[in-house]
Amino acid sequence: MAHDNATDVRALMGAESAQQRRAHERKLNFWERIYLPEIFKGMVNTLRMIFRPSTTIDYVGAKSKPDQRHIPAVGYRGEHYLKVDDNGNIKCVACFMCSTACPAECIIIEGEQTTIEDFGAQRFKKPLSFEIDMLKCIYCGMCVEACPKDAIAMTTTYNQVGTKRSDFIYDMARLVRNNDEFMGGLGLSRSGRDANGSYPLSPGGCGPDVTHGVTDFRKGVRQDGA
Ligand code: SF4
Ligand code: SF4
Repeated sequence: MAHDNATDVRALMGAESAQQRRAHERKLNFWERIYLPEIFKGMVNTLRMIFRPSTTIDYVGAKSKPDQRHIPAVGYRGEHYLKVDDNGNIKCVACFMCSTACPAECIIIEGEQTTIEDFGAQRFKKPLSFEIDMLKCIYCGMCVEACPKDAIAMTTTYNQVGTKRSDFIYDMARLVRNNDEFMGGLGLSRSGRDANGSYPLSPGGCGPDVTHGVTDFRKGVRQDGA
């Protein structure tokens, strides 16, 4: 019954039956059936093109010409980086606010307690591991907005190339390396400080250990084992 209905619909739409279609098909001659002339024509075309100047644009990198280069707009959201402070310590305090805010659920963090010797009394935790799956990321910037410590931000790097999925799982080392390369490219120190001692990439040019939106807990003295 279903088959009859399908036939009816095709008939109503004026569709040809398979037999009618075959009757209208042009018959291939001998040379067309063996394909060799077409393959030969294709090879000749390929050989002609090999010796023509390339039309591919080097839009990035050392070989690119200034007028062909793609310059991302201000505020472009590219790869992430994890910021470090003036002592070289990672600014992230493993609070999980970025991973909680992330709509793609692509940030995985494991935290660990810091030592007072390394991080002072104000920072209780740091990430033991911090991973972003860049294949899941939708570059929305919510993680950056959610961070209370100005610890995560986005570079303008957009050209991501890899040969396997694991190449796109960015771990903490990669994210800090992104920081170093991005800051270096802008002529800033690792912590984002310019020659005048301010931090142009931090909100309001504020210092490297600022807490946004919540009470600054740095005023307290940390107890041993806290
Ligand atoms: S940019 Fe958006 S999707 Fe990507 S890690 Fe940040 S919050 Fe998640
Ligand atoms: S929100 Fe900021 S401080 Fe908190 S875990 Fe994410 S990067 Fe680290």
